Amino acid sequence: MNGTSDLDIANEAVRTGSRILVLTGAGISAESGVPTFRGGGDTWRGMPFQELSSARMVNEDLPLVWEWFDYRRSVISHCEPNAAHLAVAAGQKEGQFREVTLVTQNIDGLHRAAGSTELIELHGHIDTARCLACGNFASLLTLPNDERPPVCAACGDSMRPHVVLFGEGLEEEDLLNAYEKAAACDVCIIVGTSAVVHPANVIPQIAKREGAFLIEINLEETELTSSADLSLRNTACEVLPEIFAVPSASGEATNESV
Ligand code: NAD
Ligand code: ZN
Repeated sequence: MNGTSDLDIANEAVRTGSRILVLTGAGISAESGVPTFRGGGDTWRGMPFQELSSARMVNEDLPLVWEWFDYRRSVISHCEPNAAHLAVAAGQKEGQFREVTLVTQNIDGLHRAAGSTELIELHGHIDTARCLACGNFASLLTLPNDERPPVCAACGDSMRPHVVLFGEGLEEEDLLNAYEKAAACDVCIIVGTSAVVHPANVIPQIAKREGAFLIEINLEETELTSSADLSLRNTACEVLPEIFAVPSASGEATNESV
């Protein structure tokens, strides 16, 4: 723990900043019970995650890819947004004089469930299917659970999970949008990402290069730590409600709005 003073500095930076960018990874959902890749083992039915969640596997065994993602959906379906997701969403709503942009690598939908609106989901969304042929989207919440792969209502072809898999690139528009926000922000908060995956390792570097104050929230040191102006070694739920706390009339920070 770095002590209250680091939290005060972070709170002050967020209160006085006019453009805040929050970049989140699997760690922000860990306290909701969603396993991180590294925290939840790295195989399922004896197969490495990296193989199951790969572009190659979509071509070779699409039903298996669906089994794996249906399993992940079943784990996530029991999870609720936590205090960290809610704090960011509240910070976005209350930000009359500032912009709080949220960029996530998570596919679990917990930021949306917490009420975040200005949201870039770089890696897609686990509750959405996409047609392999025509690119049509469908919500899995409205499709029959026993139809795997789901059939596209527009063209009749098979659908795949709408998530970015290993071996695939990110949606260019989302990426450029995130880079623009990174270049323009004055405070960049990076939460719960090991920062080894592109673009988690690029967005904060752009922000830093353009003069933003970089705050890292992670239980462990990461590859970004040496670039961060402040590294808070606490959980996302301990820190984010404090960082987005609004000062009360007495001048003391409060997170009642969260
Ligand atoms: P990661 O699993 O590589 O790293 C998680 C990081 O979070 C670690 O650095 C860990 O120290 C930190 N952490 C764990 N608990 C924390 C807490 N309570 N508070 C703060 N930090 C905490 O995850 P990643 O960097 O996001 O990259 C893995 C890839 O896998 C991403 O592309 C992501 O989309 C995907 N993924 C997503 C989910 C999800 O949607 N929730 C879950 C697992 C993996
Ligand atoms: Zn189609």
